[in-house]
Amino acid sequence: MIKVNRSYVAPLSLAKGTYQAKDVQEQLLLDFGGKCYLCECHDLQSLVTEHLVAHHGDKVLMLDWNNLFLSCSHCNSVKNQRKYEHDIIDCCHEEPEKLLNQTVDETTGEPLVEPIGDSLMAVNTANLLNDCFGKNNTPYRKAEAAAKVKAFKAVMNELYKKLLTFRHENDDYRAVRGMLDRRHPFAGFTRGYVRNHLGDYPELEDDVKIR
Ligand SMILES: [Zn+2]
Repeated sequence: MIKVNRSYVAPLSLAKGTYQAKDVQEQLLLDFGGKCYLCECHDLQSLVTEHLVAHHGDKVLMLDWNNLFLSCSHCNSVKNQRKYEHDIIDCCHEEPEKLLNQTVDETTGEPLVEPIGDSLMAVNTANLLNDCFGKNNTPYRKAEAAAKVKAFKAVMNELYKKLLTFRHENDDYRAVRGMLDRRHPFAGFTRGYVRNHLGDYPELEDDVKIR
């Protein structure tokens, strides 16, 4: 999860009583850079408009621009549990990198999210994100989560290669920097990995700075 800059002006359809409209979808795609705010995958085949706080028919929550997020259908369905209806980090207002250590499980190479501190919001969001990558209670969810982990590993392997070239040949800085950009797929993890290994890459400190 990474900080997203939401546009200030709410799409007009919300004032007309619908969130399932073209202008809402277009603005979410733009603001979120086409990435699911939970798994940070790109190139998604199935996108949905998700409510951070579940609305249960409440019109205010349903049409509040600040409550609408771009999500993939997999993460949307994983989040659709009572325990995740509240107390999930609002990545448009909070700085997720201050609350979550998004890193790599050293033995499996899979994504691993740990809360920083013990706030309910950090703990709950870490659990949700780990679920998005690991939920396997149905065969479909298992297959979807596995596809996300595969995409994650491909991105991280590319990062490791570029970091090697950067460290040993002092080359590829622009490529590494591009992968640390908040718009990049899995940027929470590419940035988290480098932040956790700053001893090896002190030159990248500014690139992974938390605002
Ligand atoms: Zn997702």
